[in-house]
Amino acid sequence: MASDFLTDNETLVADAPRKLFGSSNEAVRSALNQFEEVACPLCCVTPVRFAVDYQGFQLCRCPTCDLQFLSPRPTVEQLTENVYNETYFSESESANELAAADRYQFGRQLGNFEKFLAGRGTILDVGCGDGSFLRYAQSEGWRVAGTDIRLAAGARAMSCPLWEGQLQEIDFGGRRFDVVRFNQVLEHTQNPLLELARSRELLNAGGIVFVSVPNIAGLSPRLKSAQSRFHLKRKRWRHYAALHHLWFFSTDTLQRLVEHAGLRVLHWETPVLKKSGQSSFIERLYRKFLEGSRTASILDFYCQREETEGETRGRGDAETRGESKSSHAHSTSILPLILFLRRVPASPRLRVSLCF
Ligand SMILES: [Zn+2]
Repeated sequence: MASDFLTDNETLVADAPRKLFGSSNEAVRSALNQFEEVACPLCCVTPVRFAVDYQGFQLCRCPTCDLQFLSPRPTVEQLTENVYNETYFSESESANELAAADRYQFGRQLGNFEKFLAGRGTILDVGCGDGSFLRYAQSEGWRVAGTDIRLAAGARAMSCPLWEGQLQEIDFGGRRFDVVRFNQVLEHTQNPLLELARSRELLNAGGIVFVSVPNIAGLSPRLKSAQSRFHLKRKRWRHYAALHHLWFFSTDTLQRLVEHAGLRVLHWETPVLKKSGQSSFIERLYRKFLEGSRTASILDFYCQREETEGETRGRGDAETRGESKSSHAHSTSILPLILFLRRVPASPRLRVSLCF
């Protein structure tokens, strides 16, 4: 999934589901005609509708925690079939530009991983897309593995462990990782809280969960939202990229989400993407202003596992018994609550209500 970036100069790079994103409402509705209502995964509250995007998708906000998301939304089956198919990673007309942005982001992320881990280790790339990050990280000396809801040919060509499916449904056979990476992926998932809770279970001691998402509270998205509200944009609310983006995060809502999943934020930043052809002066200016004020359009969180009382007690007991930290199986005292899924019967069009 990790192929789309909202850049700071309002360019949607490699927005892959070309056949649907940007197509007519009729074309979208003929491909996606099964919808489900969604409740806030944090508060279990029915959302309030605040806008309809240019392709007819309903944008909502939780009245309690302010998390924004799509509801009703297309079912995962229809999204997998019609959006995350073989066209999703088709060549972008701005491939060189994307490569420059990717190289910059990948290098920046790996540098931070190495700093927080005090060395290199294993990375699980969730939503590994065409495998470009796997290849880059492997060439930099990291051990890599990947998952995706559908593994693309580029990823399949990699010589590393790969799994297909949603993260919480994959059996990793007891494997643990030093980094679990969600790069422009969490906003595509069915339930980001479940994804993060599962990633927490997959960490080695001292490991990192990395989350990078579009920052809906960034300066550019805020300006575009204001333009949409005043009907000053031809395609209103296009920057939300509703259809394949199901969740829209700000710093506050993403922090609340990762903390509910049992993680704590070590560090966060809003990187400005590198753009080929852009003068170094303009880039430095963007970086100084947007990164300095943390208002750029990408939001990067580096998180570690917050140990619960039960885990701390369990670790203490294990250490008393002389067991090493790395061999200690993680207890999950809060996870059963987080992982509780309540399905509410609904009409065929409004198929399911999710609440965790
Ligand atoms: Zn909420």
